[in-house]
Amino acid sequence: MDDGQPAPEPGEPTPADDGSAIPEPLARIRWDNRFVDALPVDPSTEVRPRQVTGALSSRVRPVRPSAPVLVAHAREVADELGLAAELWTDHRDLMARVLTGDVVLPGMDPSAANYGGHQFGNWAGQLGDGRAIALGELVTPGGGRQTLQLKGAGPTPYSRGADGFAVLRSSVREFLCSEAMHHLGIPTTRALSLAVTGDKVVRDMFYDGNPRPEPGAIVCRVSPSFIRFGSFQLPASRQDDELLAALADFTIEEYFAEIAGEHPAGTPERYAAFFTEVARTTLAMVLGWMRVGFVHGVMNTDNLSIHGVTIDYGPYGWLEGFDPGWTPNTTDATHRRYRYGQQPQVAHWNLLQLANALVPLVGATEPLQEAIEGYGSDLQWDERRIWREKVGLGLVDDAAAADELVTELFQLLVSTETDMTIFFRCLSDVVRLADGPGDDPAGSGDGGDDASLVAPLTDAYYDEVGAGEVAATTADWLRRHRALAATDGRPAGERAAAMDRVNPRYVLRNYLAQLAIDAAEGDDFTEVERLLEVLRRPYDDQPGNERYAAKRPEWARERPGCSQLSCSS
Ligand code: AMP
Ligand code: MG
Repeated sequence: MDDGQPAPEPGEPTPADDGSAIPEPLARIRWDNRFVDALPVDPSTEVRPRQVTGALSSRVRPVRPSAPVLVAHAREVADELGLAAELWTDHRDLMARVLTGDVVLPGMDPSAANYGGHQFGNWAGQLGDGRAIALGELVTPGGGRQTLQLKGAGPTPYSRGADGFAVLRSSVREFLCSEAMHHLGIPTTRALSLAVTGDKVVRDMFYDGNPRPEPGAIVCRVSPSFIRFGSFQLPASRQDDELLAALADFTIEEYFAEIAGEHPAGTPERYAAFFTEVARTTLAMVLGWMRVGFVHGVMNTDNLSIHGVTIDYGPYGWLEGFDPGWTPNTTDATHRRYRYGQQPQVAHWNLLQLANALVPLVGATEPLQEAIEGYGSDLQWDERRIWREKVGLGLVDDAAAADELVTELFQLLVSTETDMTIFFRCLSDVVRLADGPGDDPAGSGDGGDDASLVAPLTDAYYDEVGAGEVAATTADWLRRHRALAATDGRPAGERAAAMDRVNPRYVLRNYLAQLAIDAAEGDDFTEVERLLEVLRRPYDDQPGNERYAAKRPEWARERPGCSQLSCSS
């Protein structure tokens, strides 16, 4: 790029695109921007909204922010990327500038990706990165590549009518949730950093005619690539088989090495095996969501990664009361297409759309159909297994009896508002008590009266349960659960410990994220830091942090941001 800067002296690192000197630990980072180097790029760099054909990305420089400040970063992500600790202390201002696009480092090649998608079940045509700009692909110390992408760095040819920026509240939510999901063991894009730009961004949060200026912010997201289901759908919808094949070949060779090794290039088997693998990882991801009560909120096909990682944290939410019909997304309030209980079926539907896009490459529908059916049968099997594990019945021989108890439990949980996270976590306390003094370790004892049996679960109920019908039914369920659990031959303590490994104590409760946002909007980021720290160990009991595991306070029930979110961010 000819930017009018004087050439550096030999041996000196090339400066950034504004002439800033680059400290050694940053200058040492290598970039290998395969997505733009190996695949067709839009010849135009014009930023106005337009259709881009024959290309998978457009080069675009991030807009320079007025006063970038780095407010948080995830140290594990920085470590994995080889971004040395001193960069975040001694060179913090420069990092803020790099991670907001104020300066572009040599080796980076910023671009916005071109993709399409089905939104809420309807084909939407070209969408693309309207508010995300990939800086480049960083070569990690391990020799892998990770794409660093700024979300909210200004308009691109894909911004359509919108501005390309992001506000602080949605950026805090994306930053925290990416990391929370990772530490829960659920595949996800990561969040390297959260920075404020110093600029205001106007948003009408609920599309109700009340726009207000909000602080602008940028999250730097990290993923091997940001290729989505919709990346394949767009060229397929345009009958651009050449571009479709180029993308598929690239994706398989770069990211599905095992498949590339097994099936020769260009063969239908290779594309079919690729699809089967995407179906497998997508299922694992969605079942991860189900296990912890996460609701993505906008499972459009442009928001599903081909790596099977959770992507695009927008109007997501976490179940408080267990309710399969719940969605946090007000934009989806009427049909609740993306409600909690529907997510595995929506992923199935989305996979079907990806399969349709791949038909020209496979040349037949059967292998794709087979993979889709495989998803359906694996779903049934794996979903049941996860719920059995959640209730500590993962190792009993009579899986059918365990499944029946789980089905009964679902009915119980919806019969009175019951906090999902607390209930499952406290269920292991009930299990532990089966080892208690004076009880029959074989599990045939009845564990005492209803009230004492249900007592460890009290915190999970939003209403007083007392000695009423719910308590009686729950106690009855617990007695039968205890009897069946005992048939696995494990000591109760061991069973309870296994339950604690799949039932988190801490999740990013909707109201906790909102409290962190409220403070952040007043320039106080300590709550963001504290939450990040707590969410690093979601399965551990953390003495002193009990308040982060508490159920939603009543004030948060209907408060915007806590229970209702829109796509506007
Ligand atoms: P989403 O479903 O929220 O991931 O976004 C759907 C589409 O709208 C994508 O193409 C986004 O890039 C685009 N989009 C969302 N918000 C903005 C924004 N503030 N500016 C430009 N494009 C946006
Ligand atoms: Mg999106």
